[in-house]
Amino acid sequence: MFGWLRKRTAAPPIPDELWMGVLERYGFLAARPPAQRQNLRELAAQFLATKEFHGANGLVITDKVALAIAAQAVLPVLHLGLAWYDDFVGIVVHPDEVLARRTVTDDSGIVHQYDEVLTGEAMEGGPVMLSWHDVDGAGATADEGYNVVIHEFIHKIDMRDGAPDGCPPLPSREARRAWLAVMQAAYEAFREKVIIAERFGGQAPWLDPYAAEGIDEFFAVACEAYFVNRLRFEAEFPALVALFDGFFNKGLSLRA
Ligand SMILES: [Zn+2]
Repeated sequence: MFGWLRKRTAAPPIPDELWMGVLERYGFLAARPPAQRQNLRELAAQFLATKEFHGANGLVITDKVALAIAAQAVLPVLHLGLAWYDDFVGIVVHPDEVLARRTVTDDSGIVHQYDEVLTGEAMEGGPVMLSWHDVDGAGATADEGYNVVIHEFIHKIDMRDGAPDGCPPLPSREARRAWLAVMQAAYEAFREKVIIAERFGGQAPWLDPYAAEGIDEFFAVACEAYFVNRLRFEAEFPALVALFDGFFNKGLSLRA
């Protein structure tokens, strides 16, 4: 693994053949303007040089696996910079979805256990877990606005200032208030649609209904669609496109 990484010490360039393979598999990356694709390639190389990949349950981390994750993970920080991901190094890759045993205690003190199916998970200040099956298939699911890598890395961005709350670190309280006002309105309107679809047989909304679980999940799911199917996302959530453009395209410093 990473034969080409060992040749130099700092961020060696990604070989043409590997990069072409990524662009072929992920049309939403190939569709970016040439200058952006070049920046993506350079940022992905830096990402590979600074992160550590671990295969779980028999999965072998090949160059293809690592680069597929790196190329998608750096899309949200193309303008923000890789420093937004410097609070962790580990990325754990499973062959497929993972069953996680959850324990919750309800208001009457009764402990409930259940299994949750995970395609990915992001821990505050800790590693990111991903299902390779879902990472690999991200080219085919882009039309639906689905992308597990972007989802988990948006959680990482959200968690840079503590527990995920649907708002990344912003320069001022006013900026945060303004952000949450837009997000909250879009989230509530979306939740309403999901409830109507599920309870009363209304038309299912385009975005993954999982986004109705909480405003932090709404932020992550909305960003998936924003990055992989902008046209459709813009038609559905014009206010969020403006909000996200203002954040992701500005290159805001973490210390701001
Ligand atoms: Zn999530």
